[in-house]
Amino acid sequence: MRVAVIGAGPSGIYAAEHLATQYQVEVDVFDALPVPFGLVRYGVAPDHFSIRSVREKLAQTFDNPLVRFRGNVRIGRDLMPSELQNHYDAIVYTYGASLDRELGIPGENHPMSIAATAFVRWYTGHPDAIDFSDHLSKATDVAVIGLGNVAVDVARILSKSAAELEQTDIPQYVLDALSHSTVRRVHIVGRRGPANATFTTKELKELGEIPGVDVALDPADLPDDFAHASAGNKVVARNLDVMAQWSQREAIADRNIEFHFYCAPRNMDLDNGVLIVDTMKIDAQGLLIPTGGSKEIAAELVIRSIGYRGEGLPGVPFNEDTNVIPSVDGAVIGLENCYVAGWIRRGPSGIIGTNKKDAVASVNTLFQDRENTQASSSAQIDELLQHRQIDVIDFEGWKRIDAREKELGGTRNRDRTTIHSRQDLIDIGLGR
Ligand code: NAP
Repeated sequence: MRVAVIGAGPSGIYAAEHLATQYQVEVDVFDALPVPFGLVRYGVAPDHFSIRSVREKLAQTFDNPLVRFRGNVRIGRDLMPSELQNHYDAIVYTYGASLDRELGIPGENHPMSIAATAFVRWYTGHPDAIDFSDHLSKATDVAVIGLGNVAVDVARILSKSAAELEQTDIPQYVLDALSHSTVRRVHIVGRRGPANATFTTKELKELGEIPGVDVALDPADLPDDFAHASAGNKVVARNLDVMAQWSQREAIADRNIEFHFYCAPRNMDLDNGVLIVDTMKIDAQGLLIPTGGSKEIAAELVIRSIGYRGEGLPGVPFNEDTNVIPSVDGAVIGLENCYVAGWIRRGPSGIIGTNKKDAVASVNTLFQDRENTQASSSAQIDELLQHRQIDVIDFEGWKRIDAREKELGGTRNRDRTTIHSRQDLIDIGLGR
């Protein structure tokens, strides 16, 4: 039996691992990027060393001779889903959710209004990233919209000095841009209150541990009764304790992070350096409603961090409302021999480990339904890609890239420097 896994992020690699070790199935893991690891490489913040180190463990999956990496192959362009059906017994879609969401408010299309997804791609060295170096030299106040872990990551990267990020694998040109950043204040703007935030305590606390940076919030935004507000949710209770300590502090440092709760963005007037928000409250039924008031938050740059969203593939069912591939127990509804796991199955939530459980469950469903079809040999798919002149990067190619990034980092006393040019990655991967 041969299975194609689409997406070499954690979900895809966990699926491949389970297929190969539990069921001794041959697996080809495709990715549109020339390198594996998905959001572990292009989502997890560069200063989160221990989470990023998960990739060492993920890499071991490719030591199994049954598992092949096929990088730089975009499904839907280089190979169509219908073609995969002819070459594999089953397909597992695990390509995540890479698009951003929009607020739909005036001023959102201003060049100084950007998506956190794009900003994260830039500082992690994604090959398709937009260069935001200029943005950081044109703003002293930045508003980050959203109260999730991505908003916290973005606020932290904007607030840390370049010296503190020196030991990360951030691409050199990004580090240089951060060292010239004029940003002094980061405003984290949430439409709901401290008890409704989705960030986790460890990530939240890190904001208060950045040398030379003060964190401030209005004590009036904190609930009167923490136990009642957290309703048994330990993360919320711990978050409130952290924020209660900060509420006693004054933002007097050279760099500050300020929380603005109960503020729903209404208009980005970025030519005049302001984000206009409607002030909100939660009514007796727990509904978020406007108070009728508004306020201006200083911002020359706005980064909206309001979640990721998935996209469809030609010929694969897609739910346009929930932005996921519809499935039952991981089996795609309406398409035979197709399965789904990770963010494109359940939406953009959870930690890396959540994807393991998810991928294992989908693979188990696949195996219960198993049906050997007329899968072609691995040589046939390789010939097809060669015929289409696709520069396929295999795992040996990744090892060459890995070695070159370590070598590059060594020249600056760092463990690694991420190579961000797609062409460089391809050339190194192919040994050219
Ligand atoms: P998220 O946790 O879903 O946060 C999205 C935020 O956007 C919420 O505060 C939400 O507020 C807000 N929002 C949505 N629509 C809005 C609107 N129209 N106006 C104003 N605010 C709006 O998503 P995320 O931060 O993108 O993170 C995605 C996943 O990755 C999460 O599971 C996260 O924990 C994970 N992640 C983990 C780490 C880590 O562990 N270190 C790092 C990064 C990401 P409402 O609640 O009011 O809708």
